[in-house]
Amino acid sequence: MIIGILKEQAHRRLVTLTPVGVKRLGDQARVVVQRGAGTLAGFPDESYRAAGARVLNGRDAILEEADIILSHDSLYEGGVLPGHRTFVGFHDVLGQPAVVSTYERAGIDLFSLSLMPRTTLAQSMDVQSSVASIGGYQAVLLAAERSLATVPMISGAGGTLRPARFLVMGAGVGGLQAIATARRLGAQVKAYDVRSAAKEEVESLGAEFIQVDGAIEDRKAGGYAVEQSAEHLDRLRVAIQQEAAQADVIITTARVPGRRAPILITRAMVEAMKPGAVIVDMAASSGGNCELTDPDHTVMAGEITILGPRSIECGSAHSTSILISNNYTAFLLHLLAEQCDRNDDSILKATQVVANGKVVNERFLTLASAAF
Ligand code: NAD
Repeated sequence: MIIGILKEQAHRRLVTLTPVGVKRLGDQARVVVQRGAGTLAGFPDESYRAAGARVLNGRDAILEEADIILSHDSLYEGGVLPGHRTFVGFHDVLGQPAVVSTYERAGIDLFSLSLMPRTTLAQSMDVQSSVASIGGYQAVLLAAERSLATVPMISGAGGTLRPARFLVMGAGVGGLQAIATARRLGAQVKAYDVRSAAKEEVESLGAEFIQVDGAIEDRKAGGYAVEQSAEHLDRLRVAIQQEAAQADVIITTARVPGRRAPILITRAMVEAMKPGAVIVDMAASSGGNCELTDPDHTVMAGEITILGPRSIECGSAHSTSILISNNYTAFLLHLLAEQCDRNDDSILKATQVVANGKVVNERFLTLASAAF
């Protein structure tokens, strides 16, 4: 079995498998890597050779030789896909279903680890959590750098500066990491999530949970949030209006799988914020939680800065690559395990989108049929 590592788009800087990942695959598979695939993440071609991989020139050489092809989110960029290959990546197939049609070709199998179940069994393969965690950390650094205010309380000859006020909307993996990072920098943090289970986690990090009653929760949603009613979103926006107006930094992470991200911060709320305040919208790739977010662009609304970087985790490309490489390696070892039956394995069934050129994923098909 030959595993091929494609080079990601330059702006992403990540690599799906590090040299450590290559070594961990051991004699389960041989690895071919596209020249320069790890360079921008701090893993030069030499380090892959030293780990036992072969470095090949260009995408076509990888597509030609590999049985399993790894690429985080740019598996394919035009031309004809080679048949009888397995593609593994992290496409947002629920948010951008159109991407799947590219893979509906004869003989192709596609797995997207964005569909990984959030279970203990699958934890080591959870790319989503790795990316969200680094994203939450990066969001705080980005905000601290752009804010006109310092984050910790600072006392000195010139007087005392109070700690910055952070508001974090959505306390999943990314939101909790943002809270933890902001707290380590000395910020006062308030947070909200529609999942009531998040309250305890927020409080355990030393932040204050904002209570807004009436959120819809669904046990069948596998731990994820579900879409909220218009009434609840209205009530929520009113409840956080005051907090938003006082915040130096707002970090939003609220997402609902397969749906547009809810608008939590309206234009009017932005206009009521303090001059110099910063919003980092981590939900930009799902439409954004702030009405004024423009993905990948800096928006200035008067004196307020709004950032919506879609690949925020790439700011720490080396660290993100180490984490996702561990996830991809765990998945590959699972896929290659002799006793693993592709048709009857909970992890493979949840993540396989296309089998032999046909869409087979239940979650994808259910969402697609609901959309028509
Ligand atoms: P996500 O990225 O899908 O969403 C981010 C957060 O936004 C979630 O916490 C969600 O509840 C929240 N949200 C959605 N709508 C909102 C709204 N209107 N207002 C405020 N917040 C809103 O979520 P995620 O970080 O991927 O985590 C999803 C779930 O999976 C969580 O319950 C998390 O604890 C769980 N999880 C489990 C495991 C595991 O067991 N292996 C691993 C990671 C995450």
